Amino acid sequence: MIRKLIRRVLELPGGRTRKGIKPKIYPVTQHGVHRDRLSFAALKVTSRLQEAGFQAYVVGGAVRDLMLGVEPKDFDVATNATPEEVHHLFRRSRIIGRRFKIVHVMVGPETIEVTTFRGGEVGNKNETGRIMTDNSYGSQEEDAHRRDFTVNALFYDPSDESVIDYHHGVKDLQARKLVMIGQPARRYQEDPVRMLRAVRLAAKLGFDIDESTQKPIRSHAHLLKNEPPARLFDELLKLLHSGHGYQCLKKLTDEGLSHGNFPLLAAVMDEPGSEAFVKLALDSTDARIRADKPVSVGFLLATLLWHQVYNRWQQRIAQGEKPVGALMAAMSDVEALQDNDFAIPRRFSTTMREIWMLQPRFENRSGQRPFRFLEQPRFRAAYDFLALRAEVGEVERELVDWWTRFQSVNDEARLDMIASVRDDAPKGGAQRKRRRRRKKTGDGAGEAA
Ligand code: ATP
Ligand code: MG
Repeated sequence: MIRKLIRRVLELPGGRTRKGIKPKIYPVTQHGVHRDRLSFAALKVTSRLQEAGFQAYVVGGAVRDLMLGVEPKDFDVATNATPEEVHHLFRRSRIIGRRFKIVHVMVGPETIEVTTFRGGEVGNKNETGRIMTDNSYGSQEEDAHRRDFTVNALFYDPSDESVIDYHHGVKDLQARKLVMIGQPARRYQEDPVRMLRAVRLAAKLGFDIDESTQKPIRSHAHLLKNEPPARLFDELLKLLHSGHGYQCLKKLTDEGLSHGNFPLLAAVMDEPGSEAFVKLALDSTDARIRADKPVSVGFLLATLLWHQVYNRWQQRIAQGEKPVGALMAAMSDVEALQDNDFAIPRRFSTTMREIWMLQPRFENRSGQRPFRFLEQPRFRAAYDFLALRAEVGEVERELVDWWTRFQSVNDEARLDMIASVRDDAPKGGAQRKRRRRRKKTGDGAGEAA
């Protein structure tokens, strides 16, 4: 309560802070993060800046993760040097960003993002309170104040291994709480993506979202509608790579951040039949991410949007269309939506489309077709996808088992397998089988992708 009051008092209209908050400084004996936990590049960049007379700190997610004993994904550095001064100090560096310049410094295989302290003074806002310009430099204190959560606003000084805390971040970290700096409602108005970040970081870190930070989310969810789809897509990718993808999506939906506000998410969570399938897919993705195995974004997107396609596909078949043509038409329907709202980059949508297009080919098990299919570069992804479909009862298990075996045996045994499908009654393809046999469609569907 008292903390809240202090926060209120410190905040002046227009989002500015009173200058001169004394940060709390934690020595290494209290937090235990030694400088050898930093990457080589992070240490090199901060020490070179400091030797040149500038302030330089590791900041943000990396400090938070180190204090939690988690390996940081990457290291960001904040400094009082201007981008030009930073660029001048490092031969392998480049200035990026037009509105607000930051510097990428390359050291060996690593890239360190170096940002000049930003001003706490919030620039122009539009009628919903969204920040439109935010490009002044500032002090360390101001830089801390414009960050999102208290645990994300800690600075680590490698020279003396201290942690500098302007916003009670260390205490919140110990209490495993996400607390928005300043007034949460206003901070969501300034940047609605902070609502998605709250959900993602809480799921990723296993933190609770503090009540005052959580409360305004529902009533501000509609602001997401105005965010550029590309930014929302980036945020979705981060969610999916958090190792807690399903939990994140579920929580976003529960918080009202899906329906009507985030079209891509609504397509995933609100489509009939989708949730069970998505849960299955994300559970296995989450397990892969936690085991440090790679995941394919194209595959993930194929699972997330599958029921939009599948439901339309089945509808068209029910209206008498042929399976492969119906699938292509269903995909076009869904792609039209994507082009408008989802902003999925082509490098991902191509894989996604291929995986979908290959699904009918599993039901074609005659002649040379299974052999040709095995050589398809996307066979394995399409097969993994088929296995997921079988798990929710969309195709028969027998079909997956057949393909599992087909991959593992020699050519002679494969020919036997093909012959036994021919001899057996229709299987796997269920109700679509009979029609397709007569009309002989299906094969070659994948080549068109
Ligand atoms: P992750 O572990 O997923 O990288 P992160 O907190 O490091 O989480 P980044 O997107 O890498 O997230 O951002 C780095 C830092 O920049 C954050 O810790 C936070 O201090 C600040 N930041 C990022 N996005 C925002 C935002 N929308 N509003 C305010 N501060 C932000
Ligand atoms: Mg980060």
